[in-house]
Amino acid sequence: MLKICVDIGGTKTIVGLINEDLKIIDSKKFETNKVDPTAQFNEILKIAKQYVTDFKSIDDTVLNIAMPGPCDYTKGLFLNPPNLQAYNGFNAEAYITEHSDFKPQFVNDTDAAILAEYQYIEDVVEDFIYLTISTGVGMAYVRKGKIVSGVDGNFGEIGHTVIKSNSDYKCPVCQQYGCVENEISGSAISRKASEILNRVVSTREAIQMYIDGDNKAVKDMIEEVIKLTQQLCINLFSVFNIYYIVLGGGVTQSPLPYKESIKSYATAHHLIHNSSFNVEVSHLEANVLTGLYFVGK
Ligand SMILES: [Zn+2]
Repeated sequence: MLKICVDIGGTKTIVGLINEDLKIIDSKKFETNKVDPTAQFNEILKIAKQYVTDFKSIDDTVLNIAMPGPCDYTKGLFLNPPNLQAYNGFNAEAYITEHSDFKPQFVNDTDAAILAEYQYIEDVVEDFIYLTISTGVGMAYVRKGKIVSGVDGNFGEIGHTVIKSNSDYKCPVCQQYGCVENEISGSAISRKASEILNRVVSTREAIQMYIDGDNKAVKDMIEEVIKLTQQLCINLFSVFNIYYIVLGGGVTQSPLPYKESIKSYATAHHLIHNSSFNVEVSHLEANVLTGLYFVGK
């Protein structure tokens, strides 16, 4: 049975048709309408209704949607998404049920991603954390094979917790100094490298400079980013009492030595000395879109 799944991102939206093997049967991509949520959801409904017309063996009431937080995911209500400020107070569930026969369900994007990851490792582990490091930083948690989403679906907003106490960078979103997102994300790497070299430096270029070792200040900066990421991960191992972390997001796909360095740091500093810590880098493409298949299952 095919399901219609929707990944609303800050810049792009993808509406896709997913099967039980996590294959994308068809998908349509368009620019997220940042100013008009009504037009945005009209476009989603237009594509979804066309799928129902065009495809057989489709579950014609399912519409599983990943939305950028914070939202009240139990109600489909946008609360205060930093990149979609025009959506504040927009109730997607009310709009969709008024204009279609779909019964929509909503999750945040990391919750959708961890559902896809779990399909691939469920024979190995049923308690683990998914940590994504890309433009931003997010996490999700599966416990005993079930996702833990928090009271209103906003579990794991780790990006705006403080990791560096002596940082001099104030976060424009949470107004704290040294929050995770501004210290270890891809945008943080780019920002810090640009400050050092006094020109615009992309995340990719900064990482390449680290690998090549041709600039000491950039190398030191990225070493600190990796160290802070190790510290974040040992916090997760300890707080959640888990031994398995899956890393996702573009930065973890880079040549930076996340997997081995996090394992060795946790082995050296975790209080339970004889534990084996597992860190795996995700190999799934589009894990948000495909993971939506398993929402509500
Ligand atoms: Zn912040």
